[in-house]
Amino acid sequence: FLCLAQDFDFFYFVLQWPGSYCDTSQSCCYPTTGKPAADFGIHGLWPNNNDGSYPSNCDSNNPYDQSEVSNLISRMQQEWPTLACPSGTGTTFWSHEWNKHGTCSESILDQHSYFATSLNLKNKLNILQVLANAGIRPDGKRYSLSTIKSAIQSGIGYAPGIECNTDTSGNSQLYQIYICVDTSGSNLIKCPVYPNGKCASTIEFPTF
Ligand code: 5GP
Ligand code: 5GP
Ligand code: 5GP
Repeated sequence: FLCLAQDFDFFYFVLQWPGSYCDTSQSCCYPTTGKPAADFGIHGLWPNNNDGSYPSNCDSNNPYDQSEVSNLISRMQQEWPTLACPSGTGTTFWSHEWNKHGTCSESILDQHSYFATSLNLKNKLNILQVLANAGIRPDGKRYSLSTIKSAIQSGIGYAPGIECNTDTSGNSQLYQIYICVDTSGSNLIKCPVYPNGKCASTIEFPTF
């Protein structure tokens, strides 16, 4: 019989809009390395199952080891910035993502590959430019959810999942973008299942 070492069906590659993380009632803290660029940041690369469930914290014997990603740290600081409080360098966020999610795909992507693959996906996708090409910019205006999804589908070939949160005035806004990737981490796929995005039919794209 076939024995697969991995126990998941695909990855969600999840990007966060910093403006939407920071303008909620919970607020945010910039990393110790300074205010991040006005661009989507990486949240994580998350193993997921086709039924919407997902594994987590799969190997406590393989914890985050920053020495394995030393040649990626400057890119991680720029493209995977932490915005949680209190301010940090990013190590807490990256170790959380590796320990919770990355260990569940460790048979396919070791720690260095997990972070390198995520950084390469972000650069390849260039979602901020894809949206700008469709006239969708972080200008504080509202856009229809369907327009945003269509713009990304046109730009990358597949419809994304969109997750919203609410700002201090209660406006629904673009918070996270979920892109589906095959188990190799290399190829985009049609999403087998979408997250419950909690978006209104028109959503704000706040400045940062
Ligand atoms: P939240 O409750 O804020 O949506 O998600 C909290 C955390 O649960 C996320 O940061 C992520 O670690 C995990 N999570 C939430 N939804 C999903 C999902 O659909 N797939 C996976 N793999 N993890 C998820
Ligand atoms: P999740 O479990 O949802 O994948 O990851 C969220 C965890 O990472 C939370 O514990 C959160 O405090 C921490 N974290 C640190 N920096 C960030 C950030 O910039 N964005 C998000 N969403 N979570 C962060
Ligand atoms: P965690 O326990 O995973 O830190 O975070 C739980 C939830 O709160 C996640 O949805 C995460 O995105 C959010 N969160 C955690 N820390 C912060 C923060 O400093 N600011 C904001 N806006 N959200 C946060």
